[in-house]
Amino acid sequence: MQHDERYYGRFGGRYVPEVLRPAFEELEEAWAKARADPAYWSELERLGRGFIGRPTPLCFAERLTAELGAARQGGSGPRLYLKLEGLANTGAHKINNALGQAVLAKRMGKRRVIAETGAGQHGLATAAAAAKLGLECEVFMGEVDMARQHPNVFGMRMFGAKVTPVREGSRTLTDAVNAAMKNWTERVSDTHYVLGSALGAHPYPAIVRELQSVIGREIKAQVAEAEGRLPDRVYACVGGGSNSIGAFAPFLDEKVELVGAEAGGRGREAGMHAARMGGEGKVGIVQAYKSLFLQDGDGSLLPTHSVSAGLDYAGIGPQLAHLGETGRVRFDSVTDEEALAAVARTARAEGVLPALESAHALALAFRELGGAGAAALGPGSVVVVNVSGRGDKDLFITAPIFDRADWLGFLESEAARLRAEDAK
Ligand SMILES: *Cc1c(COP(=O)(O)O)cnc(C)c1O
Repeated sequence: MQHDERYYGRFGGRYVPEVLRPAFEELEEAWAKARADPAYWSELERLGRGFIGRPTPLCFAERLTAELGAARQGGSGPRLYLKLEGLANTGAHKINNALGQAVLAKRMGKRRVIAETGAGQHGLATAAAAAKLGLECEVFMGEVDMARQHPNVFGMRMFGAKVTPVREGSRTLTDAVNAAMKNWTERVSDTHYVLGSALGAHPYPAIVRELQSVIGREIKAQVAEAEGRLPDRVYACVGGGSNSIGAFAPFLDEKVELVGAEAGGRGREAGMHAARMGGEGKVGIVQAYKSLFLQDGDGSLLPTHSVSAGLDYAGIGPQLAHLGETGRVRFDSVTDEEALAAVARTARAEGVLPALESAHALALAFRELGGAGAAALGPGSVVVVNVSGRGDKDLFITAPIFDRADWLGFLESEAARLRAEDAK
């Protein structure tokens, strides 16, 4: 039986209150059994195909490849592919984890699942998975977030979930996590807590990584089919870290460059971004795990900002923190403005409307592949961007911005510039 790591270098661990220790031990044991049981994985494969819509397509980005190549000296560059996780049921990769944990909950004999949610995407995915499997579902959500993300609240209720407002603290994600933990302590006997990203106390980081690794396995097989080889580089955006570790994990032992894009928000000042790996994240133990967090001198979490709700978090999963520290995964950050430009550019060039989160990975790829820094990757090399979700959910945020004349002017001048490049 495969062994799950409890620590990743100096990060990870399980710092939980005494009352929750039995629940974590029960989960660890159930997960070890499920993980080693082919029946568990074939059930996920069946539901993946018939309910999620897997495998999601790997789309050759023909026009972006040409545009980026044209911007380089020599006139051609890497072949760019987009992994379209946004075509999964509920619009993002989150369903891979939610469904996997819901099936695990059923195996454990639980009849109820709970989840925390910030922007609502993880709540939506958990509610859909619970509906599919006939489990009761309660989602804890900060009152402020419920007001900001009303369409997702509505969606969760459509799937039959109870959405419980959290009125403590700042009434956002951190408080929702605390409320879910508290509820779990009271209902351990019949309830599984579906954690939404590759973080938290052991064994959650390992569970979520394994369930999301389907993304990387499919990328590997799909690139092999299209190109007969491995990709040279894979990009993914990093909030808590689930879509990135899922895309990266099957490549960790291969000669493939792995790049994480964090939210650079409005700038480098504290409170304006959520870039933990750029040197500003400090070691701490928060919400039951040890990792890098944006925090002040007293160890309190700093406020964060990103135009994309899914990347707007002060912590990062322990394995990614370790992979960043050892240099196996390279991190860089992308501003709100760059992400918005990448949404527009990808939509126009490829007919794919990416989520704002995913647009961070796209923007970093555009920055690195189209300019002078692209030299390292020659023509014929292969680059994949994991497009973790689709952008329909963001239209309330993006539409007012794109409606403004300055953005339309920007898009038109950008299109004219590219046409001029093409004509050269
Ligand atoms: C939630 C979300 C993310 C960020 O979460 P990770 O755990 O870092 O993957 C990224 N993209 C989309 C579309 C999301 O919904």
